[in-house]
Amino acid sequence: MSDSTTVNAWAAMEPGGRFEPYQFEFGPLGDDEVEIEVTHCGICHSDHNMRNDDWGMTVFPFVGGHEVEGRVARLGASVTGLAVGDRVGAGWFSHTDPDCPRAQAGDHTLSPTSRGMIVGRHGGFADRVRVQSTWTFPISDAIPVGEAGPLFCGGAAVWTPIQNSAKPTGRVGVVGIGGLGHLALKFAKSWGCHVVAFTSTASKREAALAMGAHEVVVGSDPEEIVARAGTLDLLITTMDQSIDWDAHIGMLAPRGRLHLAGAVMEPISFGAFGLIMTERSISGSSVASPSNTRAMLDFAGRHGIAPTTEHFPITSINEAFDRLLAGEVRHRAILDFGG
Ligand SMILES: [Zn+2]
Repeated sequence: MSDSTTVNAWAAMEPGGRFEPYQFEFGPLGDDEVEIEVTHCGICHSDHNMRNDDWGMTVFPFVGGHEVEGRVARLGASVTGLAVGDRVGAGWFSHTDPDCPRAQAGDHTLSPTSRGMIVGRHGGFADRVRVQSTWTFPISDAIPVGEAGPLFCGGAAVWTPIQNSAKPTGRVGVVGIGGLGHLALKFAKSWGCHVVAFTSTASKREAALAMGAHEVVVGSDPEEIVARAGTLDLLITTMDQSIDWDAHIGMLAPRGRLHLAGAVMEPISFGAFGLIMTERSISGSSVASPSNTRAMLDFAGRHGIAPTTEHFPITSINEAFDRLLAGEVRHRAILDFGG
């Protein structure tokens, strides 16, 4: 068998470009790598940012896709614990140097050696993707086929603050009920928390309640925000635009935490006294370490949590992005590779 693989992908050839069919060759498979036959791939807002080179680190032709679900097609020589045909997934990171001290401490997401799936390499908008076994995760039958992909970036992004900072007795707010936020509602509800959803879209109210919110605040209504002053132990923001930061910090309880999961690009400003007198804090995180990703998958399977999705054939990738950018997707788009 030849060691190389011809990959059928969809690539943007320039910043902001439409995705078009694109073929490339994989070279030899690394000893620690898994080649995944992609069956489904979620679309994350980061795929849009990367396609536009918003973060100045995109290499073109750009093959996005980092919410991968598929089957093991080939295994590197040193990979154990997986078999060809196993159902697996992968997310934002693809490789980490196992000798990095951060990785040895379990903090793979903090390792400077960790490589992004779609940063200078090709991701899951393709029929094959290669990922280090460390970042390749078995998917149990408890998660419906075709629905797992968004857990690996959007899910992992909101899982980390809940696992690290939410208590079952706590009150958790989620700002933005999109791809990340809707999973935060589901996780926080099953975690045992009292959950408050904040959305700018009135039509998402019923869905937010159905997904686990005990209360829904629409449109940053100042009266509703003032009424919740000092009540939230954890407030997770998932959108990429600024909000009234002081007003939202004001909803935090003493020692409450505002956690940024969404990549707001503009500078954020807030008053220091919103933190000082109440010992509140502001934090951020990207996704989840491999062990925490596995914990998330266990938790999701145990509680019947899966993303709420809309599916598109891979040939409709541009239409899917258009719908995503119009704010019309409820709540995560997934590309299906079919046959
Ligand atoms: Zn993502």
